[in-house]
Amino acid sequence: MPDWEVVIGMEIHVQPRTRTKMFCGCAVGQLGDPPNSNVCEVCLGLPGVLPVINKAAVEACLKTALALDCEIPIHTKFDRKNYMYPDLPKGYQISQYDLPMSVNGRLELDGRQVRIRRVHLEEDTGKLIHAGDKLHKAWESFVDLNRAGVPLMEIVSEPDIRSADEARDYAQEMRTLLRTIGASEAEMEKGQLRCEPNISIRRYGSDDLGVKTELKNINSFRALHRAIEFEVKRQVQVVESGGSVVQETRGWSESEQRTFSQRSKEFAEDYRYFPEPDLPPLELDRSWIEDLRRSLPELPASRLARLVAEYGMPVSDAALIAADRELADLFEAAAKTSGDSKRTANWVVGEVAPTGKYPSPSHLAELVTLVGSGKITRDQGREVLAETLNGGASPSEIVARRGLAQVSDPSALRAVVEAVISGNPRAVEDYKSGKKQALGALMAEVRKLAPAADPKSASAILQELLN
Ligand SMILES: [Zn+2]
Repeated sequence: MPDWEVVIGMEIHVQPRTRTKMFCGCAVGQLGDPPNSNVCEVCLGLPGVLPVINKAAVEACLKTALALDCEIPIHTKFDRKNYMYPDLPKGYQISQYDLPMSVNGRLELDGRQVRIRRVHLEEDTGKLIHAGDKLHKAWESFVDLNRAGVPLMEIVSEPDIRSADEARDYAQEMRTLLRTIGASEAEMEKGQLRCEPNISIRRYGSDDLGVKTELKNINSFRALHRAIEFEVKRQVQVVESGGSVVQETRGWSESEQRTFSQRSKEFAEDYRYFPEPDLPPLELDRSWIEDLRRSLPELPASRLARLVAEYGMPVSDAALIAADRELADLFEAAAKTSGDSKRTANWVVGEVAPTGKYPSPSHLAELVTLVGSGKITRDQGREVLAETLNGGASPSEIVARRGLAQVSDPSALRAVVEAVISGNPRAVEDYKSGKKQALGALMAEVRKLAPAADPKSASAILQELLN
């Protein structure tokens, strides 16, 4: 679609890492809890109750805002967003309207910046489960309010994203950032990170924004990418065939791989926002914010740059390592102990990362040293790593217990090689008459006789005795 520029803004809903809900003491619980088991008078919206702000949620929101380089106003407040729906027991959602907790930030994306309009805090709604009995044509809807009142951060970007690829990269980078600073576990399968892109197209060279459609509640990076690609093609088709795009909310059907209309903005509700009368405006303590700023760990983008500069590793390896704070910490600690950053990086990228299970830095350093010094082969190292992860024994303990260490003692090797030479006169004859490949056959015999023999030293002794 060479004529059309794609313009995307993104809203991401993230569940901050807290023990309890946004305005009550109920546990946030987990997927699979019995329906309506984590509820109380407050999150059920019973009359006469008062909400109390969850400090851990505010802290996670502020850390996210700081990591995104947002401005944090001193005055912030909560507002009521009024609408009636069975998943919303109070008849309104407590959110933030005109005085959000933070504004005007940015997220670095491959050297480009996506501006962040705001990061604010609100509460989640309950869940409706529609079930039915086809035979008796009886249809029912069930209401589960476990999620009602669970804290949510809403991260809103400016329309600075230009393709489905960039949208996916943006969401992935956001997840990495949230995990790095510990603000959220951001597990998409658990609904802890949901994306809502708004999409429009315009002719290249135009500064106007086209009519946008908004895609709701997308919960995988793959679906995000596909849904945007589909939606862009759809909009181009509509416009090129003489129609016009309608402003509406659309859903993504995973089974049909297409977007579908959910709600037209013509009938958009008026939410009649007003300040939440049961909560005082929030005055944020500057020194607390500065403490939070200082407590932030190194952020993924700068860690990536530092890994490349400090260890001279390829950008692709550095990106993989920097995207996972635990893995990056493991790499740097093990590299320091082993003194061999290149080999450590190889092991981290090639062997440790794919397993998703991480050894302790000292165990990894030990393993790297065992392989680097030739005590064990890389294949043996792989087995040792698996066993370390399983039982927790150290690599040297495993090597000693299993007798894996390569034999490189010269006198022991010499005895083995001599035995091989006297046992294979034919191959020795071949070698001496100029068939150099006979050396390979003799080395195979050495390995058969002594599997732990250090191949380099054994080969040297073999050649020395033959020549
Ligand atoms: Zn509650």
